[in-house]
Amino acid sequence: MWLGQIQIQTLLDTSGLHAPIHEVFLEATREAIAPYRHWLEPDAIEPGTQRMILPVQAYLVRTRHHRILIDTCVGCGKLNPDTPDWHLRQDRSWLVRLAEAGLSPADIDYVFCTHLHSDHCGWNTELRDGRWVPTFPNARYIFSRQEYEATAQRNGDPFRQSVLPVLEAGQAQLVELDYALDDEVWLEPAVGHTEGHVVVNLKSGQRRAAMCGDMMHSPVQCPHPEWSPIWDRDQEQARRTRRSFLERHCDTDTIVLTAHFPPPSFGRIVHGASHGGGPGFMFVYGA
Ligand SMILES: [Zn+2]
Repeated sequence: MWLGQIQIQTLLDTSGLHAPIHEVFLEATREAIAPYRHWLEPDAIEPGTQRMILPVQAYLVRTRHHRILIDTCVGCGKLNPDTPDWHLRQDRSWLVRLAEAGLSPADIDYVFCTHLHSDHCGWNTELRDGRWVPTFPNARYIFSRQEYEATAQRNGDPFRQSVLPVLEAGQAQLVELDYALDDEVWLEPAVGHTEGHVVVNLKSGQRRAAMCGDMMHSPVQCPHPEWSPIWDRDQEQARRTRRSFLERHCDTDTIVLTAHFPPPSFGRIVHGASHGGGPGFMFVYGA
C-alpha cells in the first residue's frame, strides 16, 4: 500500500486461535455478539467455537529517508508459557517474508514497538551463540520510556529476552510518548492496554495512517469501544483512549493499521449504522 510517498507492507508472523470471544470481552455474551456474527465469522472468530483468530504481524514502512518496522511479532525461540502456539516457536519464515520484501535485517533503520508485550517485540532479538542479540544490527529501537520502565519493573520473559538485550547492545532509544522521528513519523500516547502504549502515526502529503497496536484487538470494538479485553491493564483508561481515537479518525482519510484484525488488517473508521444495526463506528477494510 502507498500512503503518498510512504510504502507500507504487512509482514505476517503467525495467526492462530485464542480464547472464545466472550472470555476475552466479558460483555460479549452470545446475545450481545449475535448481531455481529455475520461480520466477524469466519475471519475474526471461528464459527461454532467463537474462538478469536488473531494474526500477529509487523508493518514494514519505507519513507524517503528510513526503513522502519513497527512491532516485531512473536519471534523465534521465545518463552511464552501462557500461549502454546508462541512458546519456543521455531518458525523463521517471517525473516523470509522480510527478504521477499527486498530487505535484510541489516537494512532496517528503526524499530518501533507500540508496547512491549511478547507478540509485539519478539523479533527484536534472536538467539546467537546462546545469547539474545538484536536481530537488526543497524537499527535504532524506539521504546516509550514509560513502557520500558513498567516492563523493566515486571522483569518478565519479554523484557529479558526481547528488550534488555537491545538496551545492552546500545541500540535502544527511550523516548517520550509524543516523540517525533521527523514530520512523517511520530508517536502519540495511547495508554490503557499497557502503561506506555503508543500509536505510531505516519503522514505523507495529505495522507495519514496510524498503527494502533493493541488499542483494539477485534473489529467489534469499533461498534463497542467500551468493550475492553481482559488483556487491557487499565480497562477504564483503555476505553477512554479507544473512544477518543475512534472519534478523532472517524470519517477521515486516516488508514488505521491494526495489529490483530483479520487480513488485510487495515482500514478506515466510519460513522453510521454499525454492523449490529445501531449507530456507532464501523471498520471498513482496505486502503
Ligand atoms: Zn498484541
